[in-house]
Amino acid sequence: MSLHTLTDEQREIHELAKRFADEQVAPHAAGWDRDHRFPRETLTALGELGLMGICVPTELGGSGSDFVSYTLVLEQISRGDAGLGTALAVHTGAGTMPIVNHGSDAQREQLVPPLAQGHELASFALTEAGSGSDAGAMLSRVECDGDEIRLTGTKQWVTNGSHAHTFTVFAKDPEAEMRPSAFVARRGAEGMQLLGEAEKLGQHSSSTVDVGFDSTPVERLGEPGSGMAIALSTLDGGRIGIAAQATGIAQAALDLAVGYAGERRAFGREIGGFGAIQQKLAEMQTEIEAARALTLRAAQLKDAGLPHTVEGAQAKLFASRVARHWTGEAIQVLGGYGYTKDFPAERYFRDAKITEIYEGTSEIQRLVIARALLGEIARGD
Ligand SMILES: Cc1cc2nc3c(=O)[nH]c(=O)nc-3n(C[C@H](O)[C@H](O)[C@H](O)COP(=O)(O)OP(=O)(O)OC[C@H]3O[C@@H](n4cnc5c(N)ncnc54)[C@H](O)[C@@H]3O)c2cc1C
Repeated sequence: MSLHTLTDEQREIHELAKRFADEQVAPHAAGWDRDHRFPRETLTALGELGLMGICVPTELGGSGSDFVSYTLVLEQISRGDAGLGTALAVHTGAGTMPIVNHGSDAQREQLVPPLAQGHELASFALTEAGSGSDAGAMLSRVECDGDEIRLTGTKQWVTNGSHAHTFTVFAKDPEAEMRPSAFVARRGAEGMQLLGEAEKLGQHSSSTVDVGFDSTPVERLGEPGSGMAIALSTLDGGRIGIAAQATGIAQAALDLAVGYAGERRAFGREIGGFGAIQQKLAEMQTEIEAARALTLRAAQLKDAGLPHTVEGAQAKLFASRVARHWTGEAIQVLGGYGYTKDFPAERYFRDAKITEIYEGTSEIQRLVIARALLGEIARGD
Protein backbone atom coordinates (compact mmCIF):
# COMPACT_ATOMS: atom_id res chain seq x y z
CA MET A 1 0.00 0.00 0.00
CA SER A 2 1.18 3.56 -0.65
CA LEU A 3 -0.19 7.08 -0.39
CA HIS A 4 -1.23 6.73 -4.05
CA THR A 5 -3.75 4.02 -3.26
CA LEU A 6 -5.62 5.71 -0.41
CA THR A 7 -9.41 5.73 -0.44
CA ASP A 8 -11.15 9.08 -0.79
CA GLU A 9 -11.89 9.16 2.95
CA GLN A 10 -8.28 8.31 3.87
CA ARG A 11 -7.02 10.98 1.47
CA GLU A 12 -9.33 13.57 3.02
CA ILE A 13 -8.17 12.77 6.56
CA HIS A 14 -4.56 12.81 5.38
CA GLU A 15 -4.99 16.26 3.82
CA LEU A 16 -6.77 17.57 6.91
CA ALA A 17 -3.97 16.38 9.19
CA LYS A 18 -1.29 17.70 6.82
CA ARG A 19 -2.85 21.17 6.77
CA PHE A 20 -3.30 21.14 10.54
CA ALA A 21 0.35 20.11 11.04
CA ASP A 22 1.63 22.83 8.71
CA GLU A 23 -0.56 25.61 10.07
CA GLN A 24 -1.12 24.84 13.74
CA VAL A 25 1.67 22.54 14.85
CA ALA A 26 5.00 23.08 13.06
CA PRO A 27 5.11 26.87 13.60
CA HIS A 28 4.89 26.34 17.40
CA ALA A 29 7.09 23.27 17.79
CA ALA A 30 10.37 25.10 18.52
CA GLY A 31 8.69 27.19 21.23
CA TRP A 32 7.04 24.17 22.86
CA ASP A 33 10.41 22.42 22.83
CA ARG A 34 12.25 25.41 24.30
CA ASP A 35 9.63 26.05 27.00
CA HIS A 36 8.91 22.37 27.72
CA ARG A 37 5.26 23.21 27.12
CA PHE A 38 2.49 20.63 26.79
CA PRO A 39 0.16 22.07 24.12
CA ARG A 40 -3.19 21.06 25.62
CA GLU A 41 -5.11 23.57 23.47
CA THR A 42 -3.75 21.97 20.29
CA LEU A 43 -5.01 18.56 21.43
CA THR A 44 -8.40 20.19 22.05
CA ALA A 45 -8.32 21.59 18.49
CA LEU A 46 -7.45 18.10 17.19
CA GLY A 47 -10.47 16.81 19.10
CA GLU A 48 -12.72 19.37 17.43
CA LEU A 49 -11.58 18.03 14.05
CA GLY A 50 -12.35 14.45 15.13
CA LEU A 51 -8.66 13.52 15.20
CA MET A 52 -8.44 12.43 18.86
CA GLY A 53 -10.59 9.36 18.23
CA ILE A 54 -9.98 8.67 14.57
CA CYS A 55 -10.32 4.89 14.78
CA VAL A 56 -12.86 4.91 17.63
CA PRO A 57 -16.37 3.83 16.55
CA THR A 58 -18.85 6.67 15.96
CA GLU A 59 -21.29 5.27 18.55
CA LEU A 60 -18.58 5.93 21.16
CA GLY A 61 -17.99 9.48 19.96
CA GLY A 62 -15.12 8.73 17.59
CA SER A 63 -14.71 9.34 13.88
CA GLY A 64 -15.19 5.67 12.97
CA SER A 65 -12.31 5.71 10.48
CA ASP A 66 -9.79 2.92 10.01
CA PHE A 67 -6.34 2.31 11.48
CA VAL A 68 -4.66 3.34 8.21
CA SER A 69 -6.24 6.79 8.64
CA TYR A 70 -4.99 6.90 12.22
CA THR A 71 -1.39 6.21 11.12
CA LEU A 72 -1.66 8.85 8.38
CA VAL A 73 -2.69 11.43 10.97
CA LEU A 74 0.07 10.37 13.36
CA GLU A 75 2.70 10.73 10.66
CA GLN A 76 1.53 14.23 9.80
CA ILE A 77 1.17 15.46 13.39
CA SER A 78 4.61 14.02 14.26
CA ARG A 79 6.09 15.73 11.21
CA GLY A 80 4.87 18.97 12.81
CA ASP A 81 5.92 18.09 16.34
CA ALA A 82 6.99 14.66 17.57
CA GLY A 83 6.00 15.34 21.18
CA LEU A 84 2.45 16.13 20.11
CA GLY A 85 2.52 12.92 18.06
CA THR A 86 3.45 10.99 21.19
CA ALA A 87 0.60 12.57 23.15
CA LEU A 88 -1.85 11.65 20.38
CA ALA A 89 -0.46 8.12 19.92
CA VAL A 90 -0.62 7.25 23.60
CA HIS A 91 -3.98 8.94 24.06
CA THR A 92 -5.63 7.03 21.22
CA GLY A 93 -3.67 3.83 20.59
CA ALA A 94 -2.52 2.94 24.09
CA GLY A 95 -4.96 4.76 26.38
CA THR A 96 -8.37 4.75 24.65
CA MET A 97 -8.33 1.63 22.45
CA PRO A 98 -7.91 -0.91 25.31
CA ILE A 99 -11.14 0.48 26.80
CA VAL A 100 -12.86 0.32 23.39
CA ASN A 101 -11.65 -3.26 22.88
CA HIS A 102 -11.84 -4.71 26.38
CA GLY A 103 -14.12 -2.45 28.44
CA SER A 104 -17.60 -3.39 29.63
CA ASP A 105 -20.50 -1.64 27.92
CA ALA A 106 -20.74 0.73 30.88
CA GLN A 107 -17.01 1.54 30.78
CA ARG A 108 -17.09 2.12 27.03
CA GLU A 109 -20.15 4.37 27.22
CA GLN A 110 -18.92 6.35 30.20
CA LEU A 111 -15.18 6.65 29.55
CA VAL A 112 -14.65 6.63 25.78
CA PRO A 113 -16.73 9.55 24.36
CA PRO A 114 -14.93 12.35 26.26
CA LEU A 115 -11.60 10.77 25.25
CA ALA A 116 -12.54 10.32 21.60
CA GLN A 117 -13.63 13.96 21.40
CA GLY A 118 -10.50 15.27 23.13
CA HIS A 119 -12.31 16.70 26.16
CA GLU A 120 -10.28 14.29 28.29
CA LEU A 121 -6.88 12.61 27.81
CA ALA A 122 -5.92 8.98 28.25
CA SER A 123 -2.68 7.31 29.33
CA PHE A 124 -1.18 3.82 29.56
CA ALA A 125 0.72 2.83 32.70
CA LEU A 126 2.64 -0.43 32.32
CA THR A 127 6.32 0.37 32.96
CA GLU A 128 7.83 0.47 36.45
CA ALA A 129 11.31 1.37 37.68
CA GLY A 130 12.33 -2.29 37.70
CA SER A 131 10.26 -3.56 34.77
CA GLY A 132 10.24 -2.17 31.24
CA SER A 133 10.79 -4.75 28.51
CA ASP A 134 10.15 -7.42 31.14
CA ALA A 135 6.75 -5.96 31.98
CA GLY A 136 5.56 -9.15 33.68
CA ALA A 137 8.05 -8.45 36.49
CA MET A 138 5.93 -5.52 37.69
CA LEU A 139 5.51 -5.05 41.44
CA SER A 140 2.20 -3.14 41.43
CA ARG A 141 -0.64 -5.21 42.80
CA VAL A 142 -4.28 -4.92 43.65
CA GLU A 143 -6.27 -6.05 46.64
CA CYS A 144 -9.88 -7.08 46.14
CA ASP A 145 -12.61 -6.87 48.74
CA GLY A 146 -15.91 -7.82 47.15
CA ASP A 147 -16.50 -5.35 44.31
CA GLU A 148 -13.90 -2.96 45.64
CA ILE A 149 -10.45 -3.15 44.01
CA ARG A 150 -7.53 -1.06 45.25
CA LEU A 151 -4.19 -0.69 43.48
CA THR A 152 -0.82 0.00 45.07
CA GLY A 153 2.44 0.62 43.21
CA THR A 154 4.40 3.16 41.20
CA LYS A 155 4.25 3.44 37.41
CA GLN A 156 7.11 5.09 35.55
CA TRP A 157 7.23 7.44 32.54
CA VAL A 158 3.50 7.61 31.97
CA THR A 159 3.00 9.64 28.79
CA ASN A 160 0.27 12.31 29.17
CA GLY A 161 0.38 11.49 32.90
CA SER A 162 0.23 15.07 34.20
CA HIS A 163 -2.83 15.86 32.08
CA ALA A 164 -4.63 12.52 31.78
CA HIS A 165 -8.10 11.82 33.16
CA THR A 166 -8.09 8.07 32.50
CA PHE A 167 -5.20 5.71 33.22
CA THR A 168 -5.15 2.19 31.78
CA VAL A 169 -2.95 0.57 34.40
CA PHE A 170 -1.60 -2.94 34.95
CA ALA A 171 -1.03 -4.76 38.25
CA LYS A 172 -0.66 -8.25 39.71
CA ASP A 173 -4.03 -9.67 40.64
CA PRO A 174 -4.78 -12.12 43.50
CA GLU A 175 -7.98 -13.08 41.62
CA ALA A 176 -5.70 -14.46 38.86
CA GLU A 177 -3.04 -16.16 41.00
CA MET A 178 -1.02 -12.95 40.86
CA ARG A 179 -0.87 -12.79 37.09
CA PRO A 180 -1.26 -9.18 35.83
CA SER A 181 -4.70 -7.80 35.05
CA ALA A 182 -5.68 -4.48 33.49
CA PHE A 183 -7.53 -1.77 35.39
CA VAL A 184 -8.78 1.75 34.84
CA ALA A 185 -7.97 4.52 37.29
CA ARG A 186 -9.41 8.02 37.17
CA ARG A 187 -7.48 11.21 37.75
CA GLY A 188 -7.76 12.50 41.30
CA ALA A 189 -8.71 9.12 42.75
CA GLU A 190 -7.79 8.58 46.40
CA GLY A 191 -4.12 7.72 46.87
CA MET A 192 -3.06 8.69 43.33
CA GLN A 193 -0.09 11.03 43.15
CA LEU A 194 1.84 12.56 40.24
CA LEU A 195 5.51 12.17 41.17
CA GLY A 196 7.13 14.60 38.76
CA GLU A 197 7.97 15.04 35.10
CA ALA A 198 11.01 13.24 33.68
CA GLU A 199 13.81 15.42 32.26
CA LYS A 200 14.26 14.05 28.73
CA LEU A 201 16.64 14.36 25.78
CA GLY A 202 13.80 15.48 23.50
CA GLN A 203 10.06 15.51 22.93
CA HIS A 204 9.81 18.31 25.49
CA SER A 205 6.22 19.03 24.47
CA SER A 206 5.13 15.61 25.74
CA SER A 207 4.38 14.83 29.37
CA THR A 208 6.26 11.89 30.92
CA VAL A 209 5.49 11.46 34.59
CA ASP A 210 5.79 8.85 37.33
CA VAL A 211 2.49 8.08 39.02
CA GLY A 212 2.10 6.63 42.51
CA PHE A 213 -0.94 4.61 43.58
CA ASP A 214 -1.53 3.99 47.26
CA SER A 215 -4.58 1.79 47.78
CA THR A 216 -6.22 3.66 44.90
CA PRO A 217 -9.73 2.54 43.88
CA VAL A 218 -9.71 1.19 40.30
CA GLU A 219 -12.09 -0.67 37.99
CA ARG A 220 -11.19 -3.93 36.36
CA LEU A 221 -10.71 -3.86 32.57
CA GLY A 222 -11.27 -7.24 30.91
CA GLU A 223 -10.93 -10.64 32.56
CA PRO A 224 -8.75 -11.34 35.61
CA GLY A 225 -5.29 -12.43 34.41
CA SER A 226 -5.68 -10.96 30.92
CA GLY A 227 -3.39 -7.99 31.65
CA MET A 228 -0.42 -9.13 29.58
CA ALA A 229 -2.64 -10.13 26.65
CA ILE A 230 -4.34 -6.71 26.74
CA ALA A 231 -0.98 -4.90 27.06
CA LEU A 232 0.62 -6.88 24.23
CA SER A 233 -2.29 -6.55 21.82
CA THR A 234 -2.43 -2.82 22.59
CA LEU A 235 1.29 -2.54 21.86
CA ASP A 236 0.85 -4.49 18.60
CA GLY A 237 -1.22 -1.57 17.33
CA GLY A 238 0.79 1.05 19.21
CA ARG A 239 3.99 0.01 17.47
CA ILE A 240 2.46 0.72 14.08
CA GLY A 241 1.63 4.17 15.42
CA ILE A 242 5.24 4.74 16.55
CA ALA A 243 6.44 3.62 13.11
CA ALA A 244 4.17 6.30 11.60
CA GLN A 245 5.53 8.83 14.08
CA ALA A 246 9.14 7.95 13.19
CA THR A 247 8.31 8.27 9.49
CA GLY A 248 6.87 11.73 10.13
CA ILE A 249 9.96 12.91 12.02
CA ALA A 250 12.23 11.61 9.24
CA GLN A 251 10.07 13.32 6.60
CA ALA A 252 10.37 16.63 8.44
CA ALA A 253 14.16 16.22 8.43
CA LEU A 254 14.15 15.41 4.70
CA ASP A 255 12.00 18.44 3.85
CA LEU A 256 14.37 20.65 5.82
CA ALA A 257 17.50 19.15 4.24
CA VAL A 258 16.14 19.43 0.68
CA GLY A 259 15.16 23.08 1.22
CA TYR A 260 18.56 23.89 2.69
CA ALA A 261 20.45 22.08 -0.08
CA GLY A 262 18.69 24.27 -2.62
CA GLU A 263 19.72 27.51 -0.91
CA ARG A 264 23.03 27.10 0.88
CA ARG A 265 25.97 27.96 -1.32
CA ALA A 266 29.56 26.74 -1.11
CA PHE A 267 32.35 26.90 -3.66
CA GLY A 268 30.19 29.04 -5.92
CA ARG A 269 27.14 26.78 -6.14
CA GLU A 270 24.22 25.39 -4.13
CA ILE A 271 25.34 22.47 -2.00
CA GLY A 272 22.55 20.43 -3.64
CA GLY A 273 24.79 20.49 -6.72
CA PHE A 274 27.33 18.26 -4.97
CA GLY A 275 27.00 14.52 -5.57
CA ALA A 276 27.64 13.74 -1.91
CA ILE A 277 24.56 15.73 -0.87
CA GLN A 278 22.42 14.32 -3.71
CA GLN A 279 23.34 10.75 -2.78
CA LYS A 280 22.44 11.36 0.84
CA LEU A 281 19.06 12.92 0.05
CA ALA A 282 18.17 10.19 -2.46
CA GLU A 283 18.93 7.43 0.08
CA MET A 284 17.04 9.31 2.74
CA GLN A 285 13.89 9.68 0.66
CA THR A 286 14.01 6.04 -0.45
CA GLU A 287 14.28 4.73 3.11
CA ILE A 288 11.49 7.03 4.32
CA GLU A 289 9.23 5.69 1.55
CA ALA A 290 10.12 2.15 2.63
CA ALA A 291 9.32 2.98 6.26
CA ARG A 292 5.97 4.45 5.20
CA ALA A 293 5.15 1.40 3.08
CA LEU A 294 5.94 -1.00 5.95
CA THR A 295 3.81 1.11 8.28
CA LEU A 296 0.83 1.23 5.92
CA ARG A 297 1.13 -2.51 5.27
CA ALA A 298 0.93 -3.29 8.99
CA ALA A 299 -1.98 -0.86 9.45
CA GLN A 300 -3.83 -2.39 6.52
CA LEU A 301 -3.41 -5.90 7.97
CA LYS A 302 -4.78 -4.65 11.29
CA ASP A 303 -7.77 -3.11 9.51
CA ALA A 304 -8.40 -6.42 7.74
CA GLY A 305 -8.41 -8.25 11.09
CA LEU A 306 -5.32 -10.22 10.04
CA PRO A 307 -2.26 -10.98 12.21
CA HIS A 308 0.01 -7.92 12.32
CA THR A 309 2.34 -8.49 15.27
CA VAL A 310 5.41 -9.25 13.15
CA GLU A 311 4.59 -6.66 10.50
CA GLY A 312 4.10 -4.01 13.19
CA ALA A 313 7.44 -4.96 14.78
CA GLN A 314 9.15 -4.76 11.37
CA ALA A 315 7.62 -1.35 10.68
CA LYS A 316 8.68 0.03 14.07
CA LEU A 317 12.18 -1.50 13.90
CA PHE A 318 12.83 -0.08 10.44
CA ALA A 319 11.09 3.29 10.70
CA SER A 320 12.69 4.16 14.06
CA ARG A 321 16.15 3.35 12.69
CA VAL A 322 15.43 5.45 9.60
CA ALA A 323 14.34 8.33 11.82
CA ARG A 324 17.33 8.13 14.14
CA HIS A 325 19.89 7.71 11.35
CA TRP A 326 18.53 10.24 8.87
CA THR A 327 17.78 12.99 11.35
CA GLY A 328 21.50 12.78 12.18
CA GLU A 329 22.38 12.99 8.49
CA ALA A 330 20.04 15.97 8.07
CA ILE A 331 22.20 17.78 10.62
CA GLN A 332 25.16 16.86 8.43
CA VAL A 333 23.54 18.44 5.37
CA LEU A 334 23.02 21.67 7.32
CA GLY A 335 26.62 21.61 8.58
CA GLY A 336 27.26 23.79 11.65
CA TYR A 337 23.81 25.38 11.40
CA GLY A 338 22.32 21.93 11.81
CA TYR A 339 23.94 21.63 15.21
CA THR A 340 22.43 24.90 16.43
CA LYS A 341 18.91 25.72 17.53
CA ASP A 342 18.59 28.16 14.62
CA PHE A 343 17.21 25.20 12.65
CA PRO A 344 15.00 22.30 13.78
CA ALA A 345 17.40 19.54 12.62
CA GLU A 346 18.84 19.07 16.11
CA ARG A 347 15.31 18.84 17.57
CA TYR A 348 14.32 16.18 15.05
CA PHE A 349 17.46 14.23 16.03
CA ARG A 350 16.67 14.48 19.76
CA ASP A 351 12.99 13.64 19.19
CA ALA A 352 13.70 10.64 16.96
CA LYS A 353 15.85 8.59 19.35
CA ILE A 354 13.03 7.55 21.68
CA THR A 355 11.15 5.85 18.82
CA GLU A 356 13.78 3.09 19.11
CA ILE A 357 12.90 2.63 22.79
CA TYR A 358 9.28 3.16 23.80
CA GLU A 359 6.44 0.77 23.04
CA GLY A 360 9.14 -1.93 22.87
CA THR A 361 12.84 -1.39 22.15
CA SER A 362 14.39 -2.33 18.81
CA GLU A 363 15.94 -5.37 20.48
CA ILE A 364 12.46 -6.51 21.54
CA GLN A 365 11.11 -5.93 18.00
CA ARG A 366 13.92 -8.16 16.65
CA LEU A 367 12.99 -10.77 19.26
CA VAL A 368 9.35 -10.71 18.09
CA ILE A 369 10.46 -11.12 14.47
CA ALA A 370 13.02 -13.83 15.28
CA ARG A 371 10.50 -15.82 17.32
CA ALA A 372 8.12 -15.84 14.36
CA LEU A 373 10.99 -17.08 12.17
CA LEU A 374 12.48 -19.64 14.55
CA GLY A 375 9.69 -20.57 16.94
CA GLU A 376 10.76 -22.21 20.21
CA ILE A 377 14.46 -22.18 19.25
CA ALA A 378 14.46 -18.37 19.62
CA ARG A 379 13.04 -18.69 23.15
CA GLY A 380 15.93 -20.90 24.26
CA ASP A 381 18.18 -18.34 26.01
C1 LIG B 1 9.68 9.36 26.92
C2 LIG B 1 9.17 8.03 27.36
C3 LIG B 1 7.81 7.79 27.35
C4 LIG B 1 7.31 6.56 27.79
N1 LIG B 1 5.94 6.37 27.86
C5 LIG B 1 5.46 5.25 28.45
C6 LIG B 1 4.06 5.11 28.70
O1 LIG B 1 3.24 5.97 28.36
N2 LIG B 1 3.64 4.00 29.35
C7 LIG B 1 4.49 3.01 29.74
O2 LIG B 1 4.04 2.02 30.33
N3 LIG B 1 5.83 3.11 29.50
C8 LIG B 1 6.32 4.21 28.88
N4 LIG B 1 7.67 4.34 28.65
C9 LIG B 1 8.56 3.24 29.00
C10 LIG B 1 9.12 2.50 27.79
O3 LIG B 1 8.11 1.78 27.14
C11 LIG B 1 10.28 1.63 28.28
O4 LIG B 1 11.35 2.53 28.56
C12 LIG B 1 10.71 0.58 27.26
O5 LIG B 1 9.73 -0.40 27.14
C13 LIG B 1 12.03 -0.08 27.65
O6 LIG B 1 12.03 -0.49 28.98
P1 LIG B 1 13.26 -0.04 29.94
O7 LIG B 1 13.47 1.41 29.75
O8 LIG B 1 12.96 -0.55 31.29
O9 LIG B 1 14.50 -0.79 29.35
P2 LIG B 1 14.99 -2.27 29.75
O10 LIG B 1 13.88 -3.23 29.56
O11 LIG B 1 15.67 -2.24 31.07
O12 LIG B 1 16.06 -2.52 28.61
C14 LIG B 1 17.41 -2.03 28.69
C15 LIG B 1 18.16 -2.57 27.47
O13 LIG B 1 18.16 -4.01 27.49
C16 LIG B 1 17.60 -4.50 26.28
N5 LIG B 1 16.82 -5.73 26.55
C17 LIG B 1 15.91 -5.94 27.52
N6 LIG B 1 15.40 -7.18 27.42
C18 LIG B 1 16.01 -7.76 26.36
C19 LIG B 1 15.93 -9.05 25.73
N7 LIG B 1 15.09 -9.97 26.18
N8 LIG B 1 16.72 -9.29 24.66
C20 LIG B 1 17.55 -8.35 24.19
N9 LIG B 1 17.70 -7.12 24.74
C21 LIG B 1 16.93 -6.83 25.80
C22 LIG B 1 16.69 -3.38 25.79
O14 LIG B 1 16.41 -3.50 24.40
C23 LIG B 1 17.49 -2.16 26.16
O15 LIG B 1 18.49 -1.94 25.17
C24 LIG B 1 8.20 5.55 28.21
C25 LIG B 1 9.57 5.79 28.19
C26 LIG B 1 10.05 7.01 27.81
C27 LIG B 1 11.54 7.26 27.88
